[in-house]
Amino acid sequence: MDLFETLAKATKPCKLITIKKDKSMIELSILLGRSPDLLIDQIMGNAFKAGYVIDDMCVAGKLLIDQIKDGDLITNSGACLFHTGSYDKDATKLFCKLILWGIGDCPECGGFSESSPANKFISSSDNLTPPEIKGKELFICMNCEHEFYID
Ligand SMILES: [Zn+2]
Repeated sequence: MDLFETLAKATKPCKLITIKKDKSMIELSILLGRSPDLLIDQIMGNAFKAGYVIDDMCVAGKLLIDQIKDGDLITNSGACLFHTGSYDKDATKLFCKLILWGIGDCPECGGFSESSPANKFISSSDNLTPPEIKGKELFICMNCEHEFYID
């Protein structure tokens, strides 16, 4: 692997970490007039670019603001402005409650999840391609058995 490849890999945004879609996240997206998914993309995009969050599952369940303050001297409203484009007092308050979350982790308890046996499969007609899951894939938490879909 040459240097450019190494750099490209190092700066590639991590797809394993997202923000938990909890009450604070939803309230913040309503306040800023954006969809939760778009807002998460914007926040995480900036967090990866600035190096606040790296490809590391260990940060799941921790506050995003703590990861930011670990690396930089920045005020809460400054962090909110950088990540969301707003330094509104209420937005900052909600921003400071955002929790980092592993993609595919149970939204209830944070446990590890697996594809649910309840998924319906469509088998292929040629018997060569593996059967596909019909619609959205359902996941089940190995810890609390909560079932959920991943966007
Ligand atoms: Zn669970």
